[in-house]
Amino acid sequence: MSEQQPTPRTCTSCSGAGGKAVDTSRDGKTVQHWQRCGNCSGTGVQSGGI
Ligand SMILES: [Zn+2]
Repeated sequence: MSEQQPTPRTCTSCSGAGGKAVDTSRDGKTVQHWQRCGNCSGTGVQSGGI
């Protein structure tokens, strides 16, 4: 028997990136806007479980 280490789960929604860049059109310009992942609150790691 070996104890399992509580490994942090990588967020599946953002693949651990913590969010994603979304293109937003503004005044005819395309601006990249960083959108924080709501599933992990921008941490890239899913919370809960333990
Ligand atoms: Zn995420």
